[in-house]
Amino acid sequence: MSFAATILTLYPEMFPGPLGVSLSGDALGRGLWSLEARNIREHGLGRHRTVDDTPAGGGPGMVIRCDVLANALDAAAPADDPRPKLLMSPRGRPLKQAQVRELAAGPGLLVVCGRFEGVDERVIAARGLQEVSIGDYVLSGGEIAAMVLLDACVRLIPGVMGKDASGLDESFEGSLLEYPHYTRPRDWEGRSIPDVLLSGNHAAIARWRREESERITRERRPDLLG
Ligand code: SAH
Repeated sequence: MSFAATILTLYPEMFPGPLGVSLSGDALGRGLWSLEARNIREHGLGRHRTVDDTPAGGGPGMVIRCDVLANALDAAAPADDPRPKLLMSPRGRPLKQAQVRELAAGPGLLVVCGRFEGVDERVIAARGLQEVSIGDYVLSGGEIAAMVLLDACVRLIPGVMGKDASGLDESFEGSLLEYPHYTRPRDWEGRSIPDVLLSGNHAAIARWRREESERITRERRPDLLG
């Protein structure tokens, strides 16, 4: 069984978008994962296929209706669908590599992309949506956030990356950020590649990388060191 992603959105034409090129696009073409973008508006009400209404209690903007979104969710996934149901939301649990790894190892995802002020709270509870945030800033819609989440998951699906191991010593996989990379030319604008990387001494190279990872993490993200 390959990883199946279903996206509920008001803008299905945004997909696959960037997920259709390079690593994730090749994997899509090879059937290592599948992507279905469904339009919430198909479940909209009346002649205008209305999906939203004004917030109870007043205030600016519009809110996606619970009944419309619930119908869209129920049509997208049978009751026994084993996939987690996520809602992209700035109020959600901040997305971390550990959660990405868990999701990538599972059967896939059903992802709701919010728009406007968000969605009626009742559908979140009634359909058990897990809210996921991609960071402490506000986007205009959940589509780009869903792409971020999917891109991070898809590269971890077995067979997607050239070498399965190449995901393992990257930033966030341990508690350290990644060490610096260099490639040719050896000298460039007066800057050279650190000698140790050209020494052929694999133990010394591993030690240097470890030390650089620790230094960069200490300087930039001491919070990761706990
Ligand atoms: N009124 C909301 C913001 C709505 S932004 C609030 O203040 O919390 C519109 C939609 O964009 C949201 O429903 C959500 O799906 C998406 N979105 C915005 N920022 C996001 C973030 N940081 N992470 C994930 N999704 C986000």
